[in-house]
Amino acid sequence: MVEHYLKRIFALFHRSPNKATFEEYLNYLEEYDDNLVMKLFYYVRDNHTAMPSVAQLKKNLNTLKSRQTFNAARQEHEDCYFCVGVGLVPYLLSPKSDARITRYTQTMQRCKCSAGQEHDQRIPLHQKPQFEIEGDLSYPILVQVKMNKFNRKLNAVTAKAQSGAI
Ligand SMILES: [Zn+2]
Repeated sequence: MVEHYLKRIFALFHRSPNKATFEEYLNYLEEYDDNLVMKLFYYVRDNHTAMPSVAQLKKNLNTLKSRQTFNAARQEHEDCYFCVGVGLVPYLLSPKSDARITRYTQTMQRCKCSAGQEHDQRIPLHQKPQFEIEGDLSYPILVQVKMNKFNRKLNAVTAKAQSGAI
């Protein structure tokens, strides 16, 4: 595969290299996986007007590799169950333990994943989940659902108390 794309790179610039030159490039590119070399071909096609030197290809490969790392990091963010890539995890405050509030309220904490590192370090770090995984819900939605449920209960209790039923 590497050889195939290398031939295509030479063909882009109407070059038919001698064996030695071709081997020189090939030796260098063979260290890289097929997928990256394929990307290199398209990169060269779109960005070069003349046949790049081995040194130039090396630079291009570094650019492509850093893009790959960046995309992988982004992918990781999006896959985070607790923050769904936002970097912030909701934390439920209870009026039973916090005198400042009368209803269940959410506050935000910094996620332990890499997305969380992009937020202000003064935001408290999310230490451990308050709720266990339920169904297909993402964690922020789960906290929202719990909060609504607890508040409905709270309303019912308050309503009962006010009507003198307790
Ligand atoms: Zn996260």
